Amino acid sequence: MHPAGMTRVERESRSKLKPLISWKEFLRATPTLRHLTCGKPNCKCRRGQKHTALVLTRIVNGKAEQLHIPKDNETVAREWIERYREILALLEKISSSSWDRLKRKKKPR
Ligand SMILES: [Zn+2]
Repeated sequence: MHPAGMTRVERESRSKLKPLISWKEFLRATPTLRHLTCGKPNCKCRRGQKHTALVLTRIVNGKAEQLHIPKDNETVAREWIERYREILALLEKISSSSWDRLKRKKKPR
């Protein structure tokens, strides 16, 4: 597809997409914050201030997989998930442009 035949939205989406998929990491997963008690008898978690742990879930071939994320990696994991969502949104915009293009090409009966 030549850029001249594209809509402005499509051109912009493709150029935003390029660096996201070329150089950066992304991750399809659902983040869940778990509230846990650790087992130490005098810990604050026993008095209601539970610890938190980030758990990622993804579905592969219909099966759920979980990944427990250490505190140090929480920020980076959330960034990768956010980037995946951004990529999906851009793909959707490009896909809509293609949809519209095919719709216009449909011959009248
Ligand atoms: Zn505790």
